[in-house]
Amino acid sequence: MELNFTGISKLEGIKEEFDINEHLEDNTIDFCGERLNIVSPVTVKGTMVNYDGKINVELRIATQVERVCSRCLEKFSDEIVASADYVFVKEADGCKEDYYTYKNEKADITNLVIGEITAELDMKPLCSENCKGLCQICGKDRNSKECQCRKEEIDPRMQVLSKLLDRK
Ligand SMILES: [Zn+2]
Ligand SMILES: [Zn+2]
Repeated sequence: MELNFTGISKLEGIKEEFDINEHLEDNTIDFCGERLNIVSPVTVKGTMVNYDGKINVELRIATQVERVCSRCLEKFSDEIVASADYVFVKEADGCKEDYYTYKNEKADITNLVIGEITAELDMKPLCSENCKGLCQICGKDRNSKECQCRKEEIDPRMQVLSKLLDRK
């Protein structure tokens, strides 16, 4: 995935819009050692403007990543939306901190986009805010079927015991 600065790199103050819709590499993303599937093409929209010889890029990323709900353990598509700003300078201008470099009028943004998507991923994803999760007694998914299990009244003697155990 790359940005092409040909139209603006020599013209200061010119703003150009871009709208990229591409599959990312092998359609997976590494997240804390877990390989997650990217289930839709990645959309990257934004603007780029040449300001003072540097290319200021503003981008908005949208895609869907397959996750497993941390409560009900069902797979779902997690909508990922991210936005970011980057400044690019020509590689020949030497190494400059805080800037990204481009060469031959092009900047490869694949790794930047992957980084932004990763930053939006939850450690404990939920298929929905109201996911009821699994029944702790029978293990059924309580979103699809209310099971017959009732939370048993806790035996008062057990309550005393658990309080003792909680005491530190
Ligand atoms: Zn869930
Ligand atoms: Zn149950």
